[in-house]
Order: sequence, then C-alpha cells, then structure tokens
Amino acid sequence: ITVNARDSEHAQSIVRAVEKLPEVRVVNVSDRTFLMHLGGKIEVRSKMQIRTRDDLSMAYTPGVARVCRAIHEDPERAFNLTIKRNTVAVVSDGTAVLGLGDIGPRAAMPVMEGKAMLFKEFANVDAFPICLDTKDPDEIVETVKRLAPGFGGINLEDISAPRCFEIEDRLKRELDIPVFHDDQHGTAVVVLAALINALKITGKRMEEVRAVFSGVGAAGVACAKILMAAGVKNIVGCDSRGIVHPERDGLDTSKGWFAGHTNPEGLEGTLTDAVKGADLFVGLSVPNVLTVDHLKTMSEKPIIFAMANPDPEIRPELAYEHAGIVATGRSDYPNQINNVLCFPGIFRGALDIRAREITEEMKLAAANAIAGVIPEDAVAPDYIIPSVFDERVAPAVAEAVAEAGKEDGAARRIQEQAETDFQSMAY
Ligand code: NAP
Ligand code: MG
Repeated sequence: ITVNARDSEHAQSIVRAVEKLPEVRVVNVSDRTFLMHLGGKIEVRSKMQIRTRDDLSMAYTPGVARVCRAIHEDPERAFNLTIKRNTVAVVSDGTAVLGLGDIGPRAAMPVMEGKAMLFKEFANVDAFPICLDTKDPDEIVETVKRLAPGFGGINLEDISAPRCFEIEDRLKRELDIPVFHDDQHGTAVVVLAALINALKITGKRMEEVRAVFSGVGAAGVACAKILMAAGVKNIVGCDSRGIVHPERDGLDTSKGWFAGHTNPEGLEGTLTDAVKGADLFVGLSVPNVLTVDHLKTMSEKPIIFAMANPDPEIRPELAYEHAGIVATGRSDYPNQINNVLCFPGIFRGALDIRAREITEEMKLAAANAIAGVIPEDAVAPDYIIPSVFDERVAPAVAEAVAEAGKEDGAARRIQEQAETDFQSMAY
C-alpha cells in the first residue's frame, strides 16, 4: 500500500503504527520530495538533432567557425547567434539559503535548481544554477564577471548581507547585462505591488502612508527604497533593538541607510513606540515580534505584511480581527508575497530587449503590472496579490518591463529586427 505522509515525523509515526500490525513488515519508505531531487531537477537539451555529417559540420566544426568569426567581428552578435539572449546565471554562495542560513554552495544547489525550473516554467528563460565555493566578495565579483559572456543576465541569490550589497553594486557597475539580487529587489517589487492594491481598498495615497519596518536588512532596505520611489514619505525602520537611529553604534550598511534616509531625526524607542498610529507594517525580520496589542495601537484597520519565513511576524489568525489586510510569504494563507511573481517576468522582459541593466523604472513597471493583473473591482482584502499560478502575471510583467526599459534607455534592442539580421549576412 502507499501512504502519503505530511512530513518525516508523520511518516515515522505511520511506520511505527503499521509495524505493530501482525504479519506486516515495512520493506521500504521513500520520500516523494527526495525522489523528485534524485539526479537533480533540470537538464540541458539540444534544440535540434545531429543525424548526418552535414548537421555535424554545421552545428560544430567546421561550420561553427564562421559563426564564431562573425561574433568575433561584432561581439553584440552573441545575442543573435548564441544562447546569451535567453540565458540567466543564478549565482549563489550558499550563505543565506531560505531560512537555513549559511549552508554552503553544495547544499544550496537544490534551491538554485528549483529557481532555474521556475524561470523556465513561468517565463521560458534558460537559467543555470551556479554555486560558488567562496564567500569573498572580490572573488565572487571576479568569478561572475569572468563567466558573464555567455549570459544575458545575472540573478544573485541567497547571498547574505552586507556582502550582497557590495557584490551587486560592483557587478552592476562592471557588467553590461542586468544584475538583480532577487532576495532584495524581487521582494521589493512584490511588496510594492501588494501595497498598490492594498491602498485601492483603504483609499490612502502613497504619500499619506505611515509605514513601519521590522527588519532593516537586505530585503528591508530594498523594500523601503522602492516604496519611497513610489511616493511613500513616512517610514520608520526597526531592528531587534528597536528604532534605528544615527547615534547608535555598530550600524551596518542597511541600518545606516535607514538611519540616514527614512527615520526622523531624534526618534528613538522600540517597535511598540514605532507602530503607534502606523498604517502599514512591513515585517522582514523574525517570527512573532508583532502582537495583537501592537495592532490595537496602529491606525484603523492597518495593512500588515508579515513576511518572516517560515513563520511570520504575527500569525494571520491573530491579526485578522484588528488588521484590514494581511499578507505573508506563505502559500497556506491568502495574499502570498512570493518573488516568483516577479523574477521570471522581469528577466523575460529584460532579455527580450537585451537590456544592459534593470532600472528603477523597470522595477516600478513590474510592480504596477503585478498589481494590475487583478481587475480593480476584484481587489479585496484577501486578494491584493495574484496567485503564483496566475498565468497572466509573467507576460504582463515582461511586457511592462520591456516597455519601461525601452523608454529609459536600458534596451539594446528596440525593434524586432534582430531575427532577420543574420539571414542577410554573407560570409
Ligand atoms: P537580513 O538581511 O539578515 O535582515 C534581517 C533583519 O531583521 C536585520 O535588520 C535584523 O536586525 C532584523 N531583526 C532580527 N531580529 C529582529 C527582531 N527581533 N525584531 C526586529 N528586527 C529584527 O535578512 P533578509 O534577507 O532581509 O530577510 C529577513 C526576513 O524576511 C527573513 O525571515 C526572510 O525569510 C524574509 N523574507 C521574506 C520574503 C518573502 O516572503 N517574499 C522575501 C525576502 C525575505 P538585527 O541586527 O537587530 O538582528
Ligand atoms: Mg532567495
């Protein structure tokens, strides 16, 4: 017989129960999740078959040599004549993997393979998982630069703060393809999308929102920046010691940014002080730091985005009575803030225009597109974010991002001329 268990603990209890039965012997216990990962989850495939000498001499030598020469003469042709135009590197050093922390590059591979699957499934982007055996920012930057020629974009993934800031900044400056740290900017785009729709319900404008952040790390700082770009003016950031302020010792990159850019001068205190009267709580910290008593002191029916994983800053069941809108990172509650709503479409759009970078305008366009997938009259407190399986999302994001990229000069390719270029090449 086959029995499906919820988790390994449940499986063990089933085995123990079954073994007590007379004449029953447990022969084998398998785990569907592990079975799914046997041998890895992705593979490389050819787009055509090699059946004849002729095929061989075109796909490989000698025919390929003429194509190589063409690219040598004009490197931009790599976008036309190689996989570059549709290929993204998913690069991690394994230092901030899911909620698991620094588990190293080998153990990070299943996550990066999964990410590659999502790129393919949701946006037909070919992504390679690349896990690097170094934590040194110089080495990571150097390695990514050296492997960039074959790629049309770099998705940095699960690299811990504060190294992730420096690594992304340097790569953005030094490469001519998009570099996007998804844990920061993918999260930020989806949070903004959620807020855009939440405000359609509460009727407030971005400029009027009073926001409090619990968690001022990698995701927190990126979210605060995009909310400000969208018009939010009033943000207070807190960490485990409370409201961040410039006089505090040991401020790291992201805390220093909050202290200098959002938090009002002279404001000190705890999260309890910060949330009083606030309209929006953005949790990118740790489980259970927000209480029902906190909610009672916030504005009428506040918006709560509690995104600590795997357990949010407040359990939604506790929040519903006092909050107007609740979103989390979890799939078992409504309003899941999941990066998969953003990264496939944003890279699809960027690749389609052969973008040099992903600009702020492209991110804002992505957020608006995600929000816009839900028709205005369908937006509801339990439906501010489309489902991750909503097939309208990735194409809508891709189109909006491509348009924004064409407008702000990030695009290399404006028209659909590329396909025909090489048909008229004579070599
Ligand atoms: P990070 O860079 O390590 O930052 C964590 C931040 O939380 C730090 O500022 C830290 O400050 C603060 N913090 C720790 N304990 C706290 C407490 N008791 N009260 C208030 N703040 C506290 O991590 P991250 O990448 O930004 O991710 C943060 C959390 O958000 C994680 O749980 C992650 O899983 C989640 N996340 C969710 C999504 C999603 O749902 N889509 C996306 C991204 C991230 P201290 O120095 O004081 O510890
Ligand atoms: Mg991640």
